[in-house]
Amino acid sequence: MQEPQTVKAHDLTFELMISQKEIQTKVEAMGEDLRKKYQGKNPLFLGVLNGSFVFTADLVRAFETTCEVSFIKLSSYSGLESTGEVATVIGLTAEVEDRHIIVVEDIIDTGKTMHDFLPTLKKMNPASVAFATFLLKPDAIKYDFPIEYIGFEIPNKFVVGYGMDYNEQGRNLRGIYQLK
Ligand code: 5GP
Ligand code: MG
Repeated sequence: MQEPQTVKAHDLTFELMISQKEIQTKVEAMGEDLRKKYQGKNPLFLGVLNGSFVFTADLVRAFETTCEVSFIKLSSYSGLESTGEVATVIGLTAEVEDRHIIVVEDIIDTGKTMHDFLPTLKKMNPASVAFATFLLKPDAIKYDFPIEYIGFEIPNKFVVGYGMDYNEQGRNLRGIYQLK
């Protein structure tokens, strides 16, 4: 099927911003970058649900070599704007101590979610922590912390697709679509 240029989710229309092809190329490159640094270290990729499930699946396959994958939940977002509240971590059952952790996010907006999660994670004494985000909104960021791997920097607009939703719809879109 040809990639749609516009899509609807609930009452809103979204237009194509990043194509499936561009995404594939980028994620392969990110996997290669990660491999250079983490090959032989059996890193633990920690995907942040729900939004990062698609990106995590592609990124760990692009990484290719030995690694482990786990998911956590820290949802702080409902509707179109960040609520400014970060929920507690759910589902962190993987052994973090002395492991190389790569936190995988769909998108970093204000940065609050990851900024607040970092101390929690560090208390578990990982060998190292790095962040890999598929999207970053540089104009929206308010919290300062290092983000080692960034897919695309995008304008401060609401997007859906590639795992990201608008009130739960749009997650299965192959491309990234911005609010029209
Ligand atoms: P932050 O804490 O960085 O402000 O927000 C991070 C979370 O908000 C992301 O992991 C994502 O779930 C959600 N989010 C931020 N911007 C967008 C967006 O444009 N579209 C969607 N669907 N979710 C977003
Ligand atoms: Mg997220």
